[in-house]
Amino acid sequence: MNGEFTDWEDATTHVLTHGLHYGTGVFEGARCYDTENGPALFRWDAHVDRLFDSAKPYDMEIPFSKDELTEATLELIERNDLESCYIRPVAYYGYDQLGVSPGDCPTDVAIAAWPWGAYLGEDALQNGIDVMISSWRKHASSQIPTNAKTNGLYVNSLLAGEEARRNGYEEAIVLNKEGNVAEGPGENVFMVRDGELYTPALSESILDGITRDTVITLAEERDIPVHETAVSRGELNTADELFFTGSAAEVTPIRKVDNVVIGDGSRGPITEELQSAFFDLVDRRTDAHDDWFTHV
Ligand code: PMP
Repeated sequence: MNGEFTDWEDATTHVLTHGLHYGTGVFEGARCYDTENGPALFRWDAHVDRLFDSAKPYDMEIPFSKDELTEATLELIERNDLESCYIRPVAYYGYDQLGVSPGDCPTDVAIAAWPWGAYLGEDALQNGIDVMISSWRKHASSQIPTNAKTNGLYVNSLLAGEEARRNGYEEAIVLNKEGNVAEGPGENVFMVRDGELYTPALSESILDGITRDTVITLAEERDIPVHETAVSRGELNTADELFFTGSAAEVTPIRKVDNVVIGDGSRGPITEELQSAFFDLVDRRTDAHDDWFTHV
């Protein structure tokens, strides 16, 4: 935290922290996998690049270099003796004054790591989840940079996710301002139709997910055509298969949307192929994409 290794219970911040009041922070969520050659960060460089990119629209200067954040993270995992874990870097305007303009507020930076299993549950990876189309719309990219992973944006994710859970679903899909499919509260969405993959384009007010990019790469390597395009709500109902991707959610099949059964209601063959390819990759049962791993 701010350049020091800090005990969990001492990792606190002042109640008048700017980011706490206005959501003025940016963050990342990455995973470290337990491989045969020890723990390894998956696509860490892409996460650090996105953290710095997220800070740009907010004129936020992160007072550490990318290498310093990487070294700190590797040491953090080592010191905590973690094998597989989730990693949460956050940079936010700290304590100085409380005008909306951050003025002289420092940029505080912290990185935390802890063990975190399957985000939507082990069963979800196998059998899929039921999702609801949220009545909340995603912010338009003309209103707020949706390609930046900004703390404040996640109140929208909370509204959508909790609405879904209150109604007995496990997760939400959020439409964009135009009414097309955007993404999940913390996941990108993929659809399979006639053996081809479709996912909302970056212009659809979505986060440029790193797992999304990984799955697109894995699909292309397997000659599965990928279309980054607008996806309408109705296309979800008639899809052969649907799944979510995310660093936390990994590759999670979707079984039903608003109680409409997708395909035959179980993990479909292309979802299974890409999910297996994903886990073979991150658990290092293949030596493909070695450059995507940073070993502890
Ligand atoms: N969309 C949103 C809104 C997210 O919070 C996340 C999780 N970071 C994703 C998509 C998936 O992105 P990634 O694969 O980089 O974790």
